[in-house]
Amino acid sequence: MLAGHYAPALAAYRAVAGRKGPPLWVLLLAAQAVDVGFMLLGLFGVEAARLAPTAPKLVVTAGVWTHSLPATVAWSLALGLAAGRVWRGAALPVGLVVASHFGTDLLVHTPDLPVGFTQEPALGLSLWLHPPWAWALECALVLAATLWLVPALRARAARRAWLLCAALVTLQTLSEFVIPTPPSFGELAASALALYAAVAAGGWWVTRPAATGQSQGPGPSTRR
Ligand SMILES: [Zn+2]
Repeated sequence: MLAGHYAPALAAYRAVAGRKGPPLWVLLLAAQAVDVGFMLLGLFGVEAARLAPTAPKLVVTAGVWTHSLPATVAWSLALGLAAGRVWRGAALPVGLVVASHFGTDLLVHTPDLPVGFTQEPALGLSLWLHPPWAWALECALVLAATLWLVPALRARAARRAWLLCAALVTLQTLSEFVIPTPPSFGELAASALALYAAVAAGGWWVTRPAATGQSQGPGPSTRR
C-alpha cells in the first residue's frame, strides 16, 4: 500500500487539532516508518521482497523485523514514546499511526505479513491481485481522510491539504498503472525513500505557519 497509508495520519492530525500535538509531517512519516525500516534493512540484505511486473508487484519474502505483528507493536511503542518526548501529547497519535501501517497493508498484501517471529504463517487479504480495486480503495481512504481533516484547518492550509490529496491520488495512479515495477530492490528503496521524504515535506508545507505568524495548522476554518 502507498497512498492509503497516509489516511490514518491525516485523520490523526484532525484528532489532535487545536492542541499541542505532533506536526502533520511527523504523522505522515510515522505512517510509513515501518516501510522506511523495511527499505533500509532491505538494502543491507536483512529483509527482502520479490518484485514482479504484474500483480502482485511486491511480495515480502523476509519482513519479520518490520512487517510482523510483534514488530508492529515494538515499532509503535518505541516511536510513540520517542515522539512523546519531543511533542507533548504525541505518543498516542504517533504510536497508533505507526501501528496503522500493518492494518492498511493487511488489506492489499498477499499473505506475507508475519504473525510471529518467523516469515510463516503470514497474513494478507490480497486486494493487490485486483489492481483497479486496490487503487480505488487507496484513493477512497485518502479522499475520506482529507474530507475529515479539512474542516479543522484554516483556509490556506485546507487548500494545500487538497493539493496534497491530489498529489497522493496522482502518485497512486502512476505507481499502480503507469510506472513499471523497479527492476531491483535498490531502485525500489531509493524511489520509495525519496517519496516518503517528499510526502513528509508536503505535510510540512500544508501546515507551515504564515509569514504573519498566524498558524495555518490546527484551528477553526475561516471558510465558514
Ligand atoms: Zn509496508
